[in-house]
Amino acid sequence: MIIDLPTSLDFKLSGLCYLNLSFSRVLRLLWHLDESKVQAWDDDGSATSEYWEAAQEPLATAVTLLHQACEFLIKGLICEVSPYLLIFQSPNSWPSGCSTKNISFSEYRTVDAQDLVKIANTVCEKRLPEKFFTLFERLRRDRNKLTHTAKSGVVIIHVDILKDILNTYSFLVHSADWVEQRRNYLSNNYETIVYSSDHINCYYAWELQKVASLLSPSEVKKFFGYYKKQRAYICPACDCTEEFKVAYLKPNKPDSVSLSCIVCGESTPVIRKSCKYCKGNVLSKSNVCLLCGSPNEILKL
Ligand SMILES: [Zn+2]
Ligand SMILES: [Zn+2]
Repeated sequence: MIIDLPTSLDFKLSGLCYLNLSFSRVLRLLWHLDESKVQAWDDDGSATSEYWEAAQEPLATAVTLLHQACEFLIKGLICEVSPYLLIFQSPNSWPSGCSTKNISFSEYRTVDAQDLVKIANTVCEKRLPEKFFTLFERLRRDRNKLTHTAKSGVVIIHVDILKDILNTYSFLVHSADWVEQRRNYLSNNYETIVYSSDHINCYYAWELQKVASLLSPSEVKKFFGYYKKQRAYICPACDCTEEFKVAYLKPNKPDSVSLSCIVCGESTPVIRKSCKYCKGNVLSKSNVCLLCGSPNEILKL
């Protein structure tokens, strides 16, 4: 018999890990751009263009990681029906002695990546949309060119990969909870074993703001669930500096007394009172303006 059969959850967790690794790879490149403050001195944009040209190889690894993520996530869907569907069907290709001894699933040749969508759409109750098939085919072709030839001719645009990752997630996993799963990944991945996870909220606030700045308002609503044009406030629970504003009034009304944070997921009660230093009127329980960050302390005489 075949032993060590993978489960749907095994594939899903691996797929999510690769999806996040791909996302992190692109974000790392954006982080260096911010750290270098290139925007302040690159007047004609030539250094930024040169940077993205030189970053094609790390971007190529983001494409291969994303392709791997797609493969695992589709395999997870097929595995919900049966893991045996993933084994290449010709018995001639099965390991020798498979009918006389137990052999691990990993020893078997599995179906080709190009057939995965067809298999999923044949055996699964819910078919994958045509838009995903187009995305996966494009990724598969790019990935083959990138891994099989030194000069692939493929030019990778960082924003395009980010959108492909977010679309893949919404097609294969869930249509609306990227923000939550990304928070879980950042809070529980290998780095948090050796580092504290204290810095995660502020890093994640930077990441969300950075990606949102590259997306249209409708894409931000679709992938992150908030309106890009709505006024953002400092989250009292996240403890980040005022440059990171990732909390929104919920509901978005003049008398609303609750802030909902995209980064930490917390809802915090707020006081509606005018700030002495800016036009804001949302203060924390300790009278700190959540728009400008100034304490509106009550002076005791
Ligand atoms: Zn927060
Ligand atoms: Zn203020």
